[in-house]
Amino acid sequence: RAKNDVTRAVCFYESAMDETARARRALATDLRQAIERGELSLHYQVQTSVPTGATCGYEALLRWTHPVHGMIPPVEFIPIAEENGSIMAIGEWVLRTACRQAASWDNSHKIAVNLSPVQFAHADLAKLVHQILVETGLSPKRLELELTESTIVADKVRTLHVLRQIKALGVTIAIDDFGTGYSSLDTLRSFPFDKIKLDRSFMADVERSPQAKAIIRAVLTLGRSLDIPVLAEGVETHVQLTILQVEGCNEAQGYFLGRPKPIDQILLIGGPDVRNDQPAATEPARMR
Ligand code: C2E
Ligand code: MG
Ligand code: MG
Ligand code: MG
Repeated sequence: RAKNDVTRAVCFYESAMDETARARRALATDLRQAIERGELSLHYQVQTSVPTGATCGYEALLRWTHPVHGMIPPVEFIPIAEENGSIMAIGEWVLRTACRQAASWDNSHKIAVNLSPVQFAHADLAKLVHQILVETGLSPKRLELELTESTIVADKVRTLHVLRQIKALGVTIAIDDFGTGYSSLDTLRSFPFDKIKLDRSFMADVERSPQAKAIIRAVLTLGRSLDIPVLAEGVETHVQLTILQVEGCNEAQGYFLGRPKPIDQILLIGGPDVRNDQPAATEPARMR
């Protein structure tokens, strides 16, 4: 009897696995065609100076509107894209689209673009970045590339080489989700980062956890000592923002300051020099 139950449970488990694998394969196929079908888009989330409240830039965040399943979040489809190689075409589309849109909306704010470790491993990334900058006319100093520690862990020597090439173009580099990787401190010592993005898990806990607050404070001290500005991710409340002001954080990003929004909603607040044919701005100047 007990054995039967186990067998049944295993069968159920296996068919559930089959189901998951099938769904994943179907998504992988759909993803290959997502670009040409125009199903990908970028949302933009504002990055704000903590001491002044001014807008410093926007992070481009990829969205996939699947014809049947609707909006699929990047955490679900980027791993699939990395597995089947379509991340190369998708990553190039993201870079080109973000640079083109940023070049068209004004001439001051930075645009931050996320890169997958796979893009570092395969392509001549620096050459691609250079080509896209020339093609879109975006000033290199307005582009910031975000990478996580998983990129560095994959191949340290190669990553350092590519990062130096990219920086030589005048493009800046941010380390994303800082504090969650394997070798954070060593990473800071060896790589030429222009910004530290502190993972949002520390922000989420800061109001009730003295440990989280101590870690935020320590990273801010580290950033000051190394002369690297720190951006806190995941700021959702006024209290969190106030803590960052008191602790001397440089920049912040999160739902309290602005949710990721489609391009047309960014253009509305982008200032008068954006486009002549746009409707009058109806939103307040600060995104909330
Ligand atoms: P990330 O680069 O760390 O981006 C920040 C994520 O946190 C975004 O999720 C954003 O919507 C979310 N977020 C922002 N503010 C808050 C907040 O106050 N509270 C909470 N709970 N979340 C907040 P999203 O857009 O779902 O993206 C998830 C991850 O997918 C990104 O994390 C990034 O690693 C990856 N990703 C997104 N777009 C791209 C892309 O174009 N290429 C690559 N390779 N990865 C991307
Ligand atoms: Mg990011
Ligand atoms: Mg992050
Ligand atoms: Mg993240």
